[in-house]
Amino acid sequence: MLVFKSVSALVGHFKNEKLKSHSVGFVPTMGALHSGHISLLHAAREENDVVIVSIFVNPLQFNNQNDLEFYPRPLNDDIALLEKNKCDILFLPSAEEIFSCKPLLKLDFGNLDTVLEGKHRPGHFNGVGIIVSKLFNIVQPDKAYFGQKDLQQFLIVQQLVNDLSFQIKLERCPIIRENDGLALSSRNLRIPSPLREKASVIYKSLCLAEGLLNSKPIPEIEKEIDIFFKNYPEIQLEYFKIVDSDSLKEVYSIQDRKEVALCIAAVLGGIRLIDNKIIAIN
Ligand code: AMP
Repeated sequence: MLVFKSVSALVGHFKNEKLKSHSVGFVPTMGALHSGHISLLHAAREENDVVIVSIFVNPLQFNNQNDLEFYPRPLNDDIALLEKNKCDILFLPSAEEIFSCKPLLKLDFGNLDTVLEGKHRPGHFNGVGIIVSKLFNIVQPDKAYFGQKDLQQFLIVQQLVNDLSFQIKLERCPIIRENDGLALSSRNLRIPSPLREKASVIYKSLCLAEGLLNSKPIPEIEKEIDIFFKNYPEIQLEYFKIVDSDSLKEVYSIQDRKEVALCIAAVLGGIRLIDNKIIAIN
């Protein structure tokens, strides 16, 4: 695996790849890699000649300094995992390499960034939009792979690709979970171990809501989920919302809908976790 830390070296390398008409699949990450990230790498591997993964902990998207400081950075393990899974190129820039000057750009994604994560993490999606645009401009991949785990992020990147005419096809990959249902996340390692088994309650609440979709009105389902979490005082529910899976607008009835997304954020032992489930309506 080739490792590039500078933009100019990577861009120089890709000029050659493009001359060879190689297709390039790109997986942007913040590292602390797990099987969720690796599933994106495998999807990219299947569909492209060259696979590039980036590891960059983007300071712009952290609205909480503590979260940025304690974000895990197990670089040697990450490199070993990427090599084992046949990644061709790792792009590993420093913050100075990417942000030689502080970006002033302000992005507006309309409704998409004022709800759910956008509402609870001011500035987060502006930071995501800027780093993804920069990485797309540097790497210029044919395809880019994102996880449904961050559904709102995926929709925002899709909007970015449309609004700015990036010639990149986006792929949304399924959520990889632990055996007990907890969605894999780099933050899971930071859940204090006595609380870890409680974390599966987050996914269980999504399944509970799914089971009620055909029998109860949505406001009642949302109330039930609130009540369900009262049984687990160690988990603070931040939001549970049933929304349109494309616009993320709140849905009040499933009538005449093809698909909804159940979206949740909760805090356990000081660690904020998000999850979602997309449900096709029969
Ligand atoms: P991150 O390193 O958290 O920025 O994530 C990098 C990419 O991996 C994003 O597109 C995430 O949506 C995706 N990802 C994170 N966790 C999972 C998971 N459990 N299953 C599938 N994809 C994931």
